[in-house]
Amino acid sequence: RESWASDSSDSVISSGSDSDSSLYKVILLGEHGVGKTSLARIFGGVEDCADAEEAGEGAGRRGAPPADDSQWLQNHCMKMGDAYIIVYSVTDKVSFEKASELRIQLRRARQTEDIPIILVGNKTDLVRSREVSVDEGRACAVVFDCKFIETSAALHHNVKDLFEGIVRQIRLRKDSKED
Ligand code: GDP
Repeated sequence: RESWASDSSDSVISSGSDSDSSLYKVILLGEHGVGKTSLARIFGGVEDCADAEEAGEGAGRRGAPPADDSQWLQNHCMKMGDAYIIVYSVTDKVSFEKASELRIQLRRARQTEDIPIILVGNKTDLVRSREVSVDEGRACAVVFDCKFIETSAALHHNVKDLFEGIVRQIRLRKDSKED
């Protein structure tokens, strides 16, 4: 019931529940190697990585100049999601800084919309290589006005909470719009 696609910088999860025919597009953004594919695979895992890479390339072939594929895809993704998961690795400060950049780009692309965003610090199992503290992550989420959670895709820790959280946020906003 779910499908996702990813390239080096973006992953997409579409999810729908049996009681609800609507599909939600949840986009995972973040630096290469932070664990987007691993997280998406735990949640959906319907399509494998090769398909996903092809989907990314296919999207590029449909109209963007090859040199700008990733930029085009990223701009496109910034506009198509119902919700966003911005992932960094707690073992990689640069990916944490990149997450802030992505949040700013997202705000620019979707200025007036109140879209759910969760900031995710992944790879908490790599305790001794940690470069970003929980407090730094939490503080960043406060500044950027989004939810925050730390996960370990390797240990499947908090991954279920992450996806339940994003679905809850989408539903909350949907319900408040319908009232
Ligand atoms: P992506 O480029 O953001 O999609 O990152 P991937 O999901 O491909 O993960 C990059 C690498 O990090 C892979 O070797 C994963 O096995 C590894 N990885 C992902 N999540 C975790 C995690 O929570 N803990 C550890 N130790 N490794 C992880």
